Amino acid sequence: MSSEIIKHNPFQSMIDRFNIAADILKLDDSIKQKLQRPEKQITVNFSITLDNGNVQNFEGYRVIHNTALGPSKGGIRYDTAVNLDEVKALAAWMTWKSAVTGIPFGGAKGGIICDPRKHSKTELEKITRAYTKTLADIFGPEKDVPAPDMGTGPDEMGWLMDEFSLLHGRPIHAVVTGKHLHSGGSLGRVEATGRGVSIITLLALEKLKIRPARATAAIQGFGNVGLHSALFLHEKGVKIVAVSDVSEAFYNPNGINIPELILYYNLNNKTIKGYPNSIAIKHEDLLLLDVDVLIPAAKEDVITKHNAGEIQARIIVEGANGPVSSDADQILHDKNILVVPDILANAGGVTVSYFEWLQNSLLESWRIHQINKRLEDILEKGFDTVFRVAVKHNVTPRIAAYIIALKKVAETQSVKEVAL
Ligand code: GLU
Repeated sequence: MSSEIIKHNPFQSMIDRFNIAADILKLDDSIKQKLQRPEKQITVNFSITLDNGNVQNFEGYRVIHNTALGPSKGGIRYDTAVNLDEVKALAAWMTWKSAVTGIPFGGAKGGIICDPRKHSKTELEKITRAYTKTLADIFGPEKDVPAPDMGTGPDEMGWLMDEFSLLHGRPIHAVVTGKHLHSGGSLGRVEATGRGVSIITLLALEKLKIRPARATAAIQGFGNVGLHSALFLHEKGVKIVAVSDVSEAFYNPNGINIPELILYYNLNNKTIKGYPNSIAIKHEDLLLLDVDVLIPAAKEDVITKHNAGEIQARIIVEGANGPVSSDADQILHDKNILVVPDILANAGGVTVSYFEWLQNSLLESWRIHQINKRLEDILEKGFDTVFRVAVKHNVTPRIAAYIIALKKVAETQSVKEVAL
């Protein structure tokens, strides 16, 4: 049992891939050790008064994985399953994600153990402000720049910005990205991760010479990433035959009307539960459908050695961070399934976060077509580079992405070490 837990530890999955890439690059042991470990990991404890007058204590984390390429960047997750190993893995993935796409940021991640659905808006605001206060010395536009992740969104980012600004006595918009437009957010940020996933999916389909209008897809997760991936792919003619959220999974071989489903979801307290016009299926069966594209856009470690052998999709595009554990890599490779790794596939979010940070710093506001065009250019370049390196080293796209990222970070890190 305990070895199973270790195997499906997302940090271990990160290390497994890291080691393969590091060996190919023949990285020194010292630099390897340095890049495997976070620069800083902070655990915070704070309490707030709930609406009913009771005081509740919370534990949270902020992990700065690496700052060789720039200020650390990464989201904050609100979830009951948040733990330090998960945040450490997510922080490292942010470092690799920015490096693969050429965004001048390092990597970080934060999290608070809580169930955001069980708290009122007032309580969530108190939680966010208290967390910000405890980390006020860590955050900063040139130091560490948070963003949304699972369970957080523009509201939380707005409170964080406001609290940080209050503490510093002046407005500091660039301390956080993913804010509402009226708080200095960027056009296109909300849908950026899903847009990026759809751009990458279309490129992967093209690689396998499958026309979008003939392609089918199953999407696990209907949060910000899953919903927008579904919408943009539907608009490109891809038939979305299955979707799920925590409450329900369903299937419609004729294709789900995604705009209609989004309308239903918005009127139904942000859940797809009870949506008609489809057949309910088991959550785990969605992953095993015979589709062209499978997009896991929910959580880590949903595809492991236990179910990888049964996957029928031709392409997996990792909308979530770490949905495939490292023990499944070889199985998927042997089955000739093209896996587009998270650090490329879901990099649209941090890319538009970078645009938001730039706009805040330069006091500019960019137009949506400009933002979407730049996003597309960056992701296309990232995709081409990853596939070129994969061919060159005869490795999977995932290992190629790690090779590109590690090389960049290791070179910059080494220069910095020598300079000391
Ligand atoms: N949480 C998102 C991710 O995992 C976005 C991070 C950001 O925009 O900084 O990529």
